[in-house]
Order: sequence, then C-alpha cells, then structure tokens
Amino acid sequence: MSQIYDRVALIGLGLIASSMFWAIKRAGLAGEVTGYARSEATRDTARRIGLCDRVCDTAREAVECADLVVLCVPVGAMGAVAEDIAAVLKPGATVSDVGSVKRHVIQAVQPHIPEGVHFIPAHPLAGTEHSGPESGFAELFDNRWCLLVPVEGSDPDAVARLRALWEGMGSSVDEMDADHHDLVLAVTSHAPHLIAYTMVGVADDLRRVTDSEVIKYSAAGFRDFTRIAASDPTMWRDVFLSNKDATLEILGRFTEELFALQRAIRTGDGEHLFDYFTRTRAIRRGIIDAGQDTDAPDFGRGKASS
Ligand code: NAP
Repeated sequence: MSQIYDRVALIGLGLIASSMFWAIKRAGLAGEVTGYARSEATRDTARRIGLCDRVCDTAREAVECADLVVLCVPVGAMGAVAEDIAAVLKPGATVSDVGSVKRHVIQAVQPHIPEGVHFIPAHPLAGTEHSGPESGFAELFDNRWCLLVPVEGSDPDAVARLRALWEGMGSSVDEMDADHHDLVLAVTSHAPHLIAYTMVGVADDLRRVTDSEVIKYSAAGFRDFTRIAASDPTMWRDVFLSNKDATLEILGRFTEELFALQRAIRTGDGEHLFDYFTRTRAIRRGIIDAGQDTDAPDFGRGKASS
C-alpha cells in the first residue's frame, strides 16, 4: 500500500488512536505520525512503547504541518480540542474524528474549523472493552466498517483520500448522513450497551444470588453482557449524553417490546414467544451471512468486538 498522507496527527492516544497508528504503520500509509495525549502519564507510555513517530507535549505542536488531524478523544472533549488547535491547522489539511456520535461532534467541532481546512467526520465500527495507549492493535479495523459522514460542501478529493486511509487500515468504508448514523448506532450499539449495563447492575443488586455464584455460573448470555458493561465509563457517558434523542427513542421502543414479552410470559402465550424468537434468530443469521460475526461458540470474537 502506498503513502496517502505525508503527516498525520492523532489527538488522544487511547484504543482507537493506538490501533490507527499500528494499522497506518503496517501498511505504510503516512510519512510521519505525531501524537498528543492530555496526561503526561499517557505521553510517557506512548514514548516507551513506540506509539507514534513523535509524541508532542501540546496538541498544537502535534498538528502543526499535519495533512490529516484525527481527533481520538471522548465525544464530550472534541469541541475544546478543536478550539485549541484551530489557529495552527495547515491550509488544505483535513480534520477528522472517530467519535461514536456524529451530529453532536459536528455541532461542537465545525464552528472552529478555519476556512480552507476540510472537516470530514468518521466513525470506525470497531472496538474492544479495553482503553488506553497500550490497548491498540493493528488488526482492529480489519473487515470492519468505517462510516464517513461528510458535512455539506465537503471536498470530494479530501473525502476520497480519507476513504483510502481507512481502506488501507483494513476497513470497508460507507458514507452516511449524521442523523441517520446516530439512529443506526443507537439501535446497533448505544441501546445494547445501556441494556448490558443495566443487566449487570441488576445481577449485582440481586443479593439472593451471591457474587461468587454470578461469576462461577455465568453462562454465555451474562458473560457477554459483562464484557460490554466493562466498556470505558467516560466514553459511554458522553455517548448517551450526546446521542440523547435517538437513544431515548430506541429505549422507548425496547420498553414496549419488553412489556409485550412480559405479558406473553404471564399469560402463557407461547406462540407469541416462539414467533418472536424465530424472527430474532433470522436477524442473527443475517449478521453472520454479512460477515460481521461468526458462528463460533465464543462469537468468534478473539480481540476485536463491539
Ligand atoms: P480511550 O482509550 O479512553 O482514550 C481516550 C484518549 O482521549 C486518551 O488519550 C485520553 O487522554 C484522551 N482524553 C480523554 N479526555 C480528554 C479530554 N477531556 N481532553 C483531551 N483529551 C482527553 O478512548 P477510545 O476508546 O480510543 O475512544 C476515543 C474515541 O473513539 C471516542 O470518541 C469514542 O467514542 C470513539 N470510539 C470508541 C470505540 C471503542 O469501542 N472504544 C469504538 C469506536 C469509536 P489521557 O490518556 O491522557 O487521559
């Protein structure tokens, strides 16, 4: 794969940024990758493990001369970071992000983007429950979707270049409108995370079932919930606060369906339960057929997951 950008700057050095760095290096997609994280501890770790060609002590220093700047911080921090770096962005550069919510990030970041700089939001649909600079790995994005969410008037050449970078990192790329993105992700990721957090919280509250029993006998369903519920608290707090409407809409529907199933159980309506489970089983088959998961008993997860 050939070089796509001379200089890339990664702001925030956690799971996603570190995976991007290793994936960029794997395929030789950039000449130099600079990085910045807000804490000295993370910058020290990055230097120790060779994460980024150059780790800078300020975000401004990292983005100077960069052709592509990728904001890899929690959604709630994107606006402040964009404001901080705005004055030193190179004319003709592209600013992108990897935030799990798009409308909120666009509203927070776009006002700070200077004339002559491209802004192309993005969201890789890949992750694990781990975070921090040491959690990344080059294969995270392999065969995973990355959604580009170009804003109105985005330069087609700049979009094509960013697409090439994500494809070079192993992703399949699609383009989507921000509001549609936020609704789709509320269904496929945000609401399921909230349900997992709730289920694990309920088990924790059930004093009749001791902690050791929950751990010892945890069957696949619950184990899967605990993995999802171990996801980073800052990231997920920001996701729910910034994708409020879509998540509440999906949770409203979820609650209605849950009540219907509850009634079916109470009234002994086996037909309702059977039909419902038959329909949901077909959705699972569709996901496997689309190559987004495997039929393996551990869901084929290995390292990459959510
Ligand atoms: P992470 O591993 O927790 O890393 C976050 C990074 O952002 C750290 O370097 C942290 O710096 C920095 N940071 C945190 N708060 C900040 C603030 N207020 N100002 C400046 N920097 C700050 O997170 P991640 O999983 O890579 O997630 C990064 C972004 O990717 C988020 O927007 C998330 O929505 C999105 N995303 C995550 C996943 C996933 O599954 N994890 C998947 C797709 C997209 P310190 O280390 O110095 O604290």
